[in-house]
Amino acid sequence: MKVRVDPERCQGHTLCAMIAPKAFQLSDIDGHSTPVSEDVPADQEDAVREAVHSCPEQAISIY
Ligand code: SF4
Repeated sequence: MKVRVDPERCQGHTLCAMIAPKAFQLSDIDGHSTPVSEDVPADQEDAVREAVHSCPEQAISIY
């Protein structure tokens, strides 16, 4: 499974990093999120799926 964060949509709500702290990192500058790795480790898949559903901006996509 791969994950992507749309930088145009992300508003830095931080929810994804609270739900899946190993999968998302937040910018020190603007608080926006990027995946730690595009390839999601198997043990992070459930947390990443939860983050997808929790993002208020629908900025996270998995494929
Ligand atoms: S939850 Fe969505 S809007 Fe908030 S930091 Fe994560 S990707 Fe960005």
